[in-house]
Amino acid sequence: MLKLDYTYCIDYDFDQKYDCESSGCDVEGICRCGTIVDQRIKNIDLSLVTDEIYDELFPSNNKSQKRSNKLNQLFYGGEIVDKYCIHRILSINGAYLPNNWSINIISGYYGDEIGGVVMSDYMYDKVCQQLITLQKLNTLSEKLKYTLKLEYGFLIDEISDCDFELVAIYKNHIDFKKLNQNHIKKIKMQDLTHYSTTNYILPRGVVRGTIDHYSIVDGYHRIIGASDKIPFQVFKVKK
Ligand SMILES: [Zn+2]
Repeated sequence: MLKLDYTYCIDYDFDQKYDCESSGCDVEGICRCGTIVDQRIKNIDLSLVTDEIYDELFPSNNKSQKRSNKLNQLFYGGEIVDKYCIHRILSINGAYLPNNWSINIISGYYGDEIGGVVMSDYMYDKVCQQLITLQKLNTLSEKLKYTLKLEYGFLIDEISDCDFELVAIYKNHIDFKKLNQNHIKKIKMQDLTHYSTTNYILPRGVVRGTIDHYSIVDGYHRIIGASDKIPFQVFKVKK
């Protein structure tokens, strides 16, 4: 169902080797002998992959599709919720790891060329299967619970029968003191640039509690990676 190729969401590099003398290129004045070696993936922009997958799953190129996207917006929050869940599914399956992608090389009349950057078969199968399930779910609560279950294997008690609402908060609305300090310390030592305010604009996780005293249910990395001064969205457990 999904396309395989996400070349334009991925920063890659490679080297090229030539042997023009023995390949006859020098005589012709044209190089046909380039081979690509040491191809490598440098960075995967999961936000861009998410946007591309969203457009594939929820196209808006005709009237009826536009209308159904509008209805989704009313029913469960639509685009922002689906993109959040797509991003979660990609992360859970390790789509940020270069090893889960490969660079295809094809031969042309003028030597090797890059065919495209594609998902590994294993990741592709899992992501497709989970996205099909996601697409069949109709409510915000079902979608969020599905991705939480994928990530953790179970739902904590408070979540198992609750609803959620999307709210905008500031980082200082969260009471970090109540949370696992060692976990927070470990996260702060990591590079969270991919979750900076410019690189990540989707909701940042699930919180519970009341304003000024929220605790994080899911999304430590995304929330800690956010700016202190700019509000961001989270899904709040509704009691
Ligand atoms: Zn050559």
